[in-house]
Amino acid sequence: MTRQRAKTLYQQIGVIYLLHFDQPYKHAKHYTGWTEDLLDRLDRHAAGRGARLVEVIWQAGIGFTLVRLCEGTRATERAIKNAGGAARYCPACTPHPRNGHWAPVTEDLIPRTYPNPAGRR
Ligand SMILES: [Zn+2]
Repeated sequence: MTRQRAKTLYQQIGVIYLLHFDQPYKHAKHYTGWTEDLLDRLDRHAAGRGARLVEVIWQAGIGFTLVRLCEGTRATERAIKNAGGAARYCPACTPHPRNGHWAPVTEDLIPRTYPNPAGRR
């Protein structure tokens, strides 16, 4: 990949999403990702592919819920990951989540849940 191509990719607008895990996995309860095609990406995660952490939680029988979204570049994704403390922004973890980079949680947002067929034990 050329430098210019890498730069262009970094500046490309996509969707950044926050996943809340049904159960914590070690210290991880959330995953933040960036994609150009959200539904395809979520389907991949739910098939146990697409990101190492999500692959691992899926293999452990843990499902996840899509809880936050915003538009942005990979630089935005990086800024969100660097800010940390995902629980503060997660409506499944706190009754009054902060927005930060995320788009406001709207009343009509139906959280998209991907239960794990392996289920909880
Ligand atoms: Zn959460």
